Amino acid sequence: MNPKIKILLIEDDRDIVSFITTSLTVHDYHICNAVTGREGLCLAASLCPDVILLDLGLPDIDGYQVLERLRVWSSVPIIVISAHSEEDEKVTALDLGADDYIIKPFGTAELMARIRTSLRHSFVSVPDRTYRALGLEIDLEKRTVKLNGQIIHLTQTEYQLLALLAQNSGKVLTYRTIIHTIWGPYADNSNQILRVNMANIRRKIEADSAQPQYVFTEVGIGYRMRENENI
Ligand code: CA
Repeated sequence: MNPKIKILLIEDDRDIVSFITTSLTVHDYHICNAVTGREGLCLAASLCPDVILLDLGLPDIDGYQVLERLRVWSSVPIIVISAHSEEDEKVTALDLGADDYIIKPFGTAELMARIRTSLRHSFVSVPDRTYRALGLEIDLEKRTVKLNGQIIHLTQTEYQLLALLAQNSGKVLTYRTIIHTIWGPYADNSNQILRVNMANIRRKIEADSAQPQYVFTEVGIGYRMRENENI
C-alpha cells in the first residue's frame, strides 16, 4: 500500500462521497473532495492528485467541461463517475480524455481495480515491451504473438490493433480512438473494418469468440483488453 497516493474526488453526492472516502481511506489513499466543478479545478491545480474521480453531474459546470479544462494542462488519470449506463455519455467522456469510467452503483473492488489500472498506466514510464495474460504472449519489440507457445500469424492491421489494445490493457479504448490511431483521422468512422479485424483476431486467439478471454467488447463503446499480468 502506498499512503502517499492522493485522490481528488469531484462529486457532490454526499452518499457517494462518504462511501468512496471510507473505502479508499481503508486502503491508505489520501482523499480530497470537491463538491463543485470550479472547486475541483482549483484543487486539481493546487494538490496535484495522482488520480481524479470525476462525477459528470455537478451543480455548477458540468463534468465534461471540467474534463476538457483539466486536459488542457494535465495528464493525470481521470476516472469518470457516471450515473447512467448510456453509451454516448461514456464515449464522450473517453473521447474528451477520461481514462476510464465507473457506473453508479459500484462496489469497492471495482473502484479499487479501476484506480490501480489508472495508476499503473501513469507510473509506467517505459511502456511494457511484453504483454502476457493466460496463455497469450505478445512481444512488442519482435512483433510476435504466441498462444500457449505457438506462433499466431496475424496480418499487419490485426497485429497493430492487438498491440494497441495490449499497450493499453485494462483500459477501455473507444471505437473512434482505435480507428483514428490505426486507420488515421480521415478514416471512415463506421466500425465495420474494425469489427472485421476484431472478428479475425478473435478467431485466431480466442477458444470461444462468443466468450472472449483476452479482448472484451464494451457494447456501444469500444474494446478493453485483459490486464497485462507481466507486471
Ligand atoms: Ca452529481
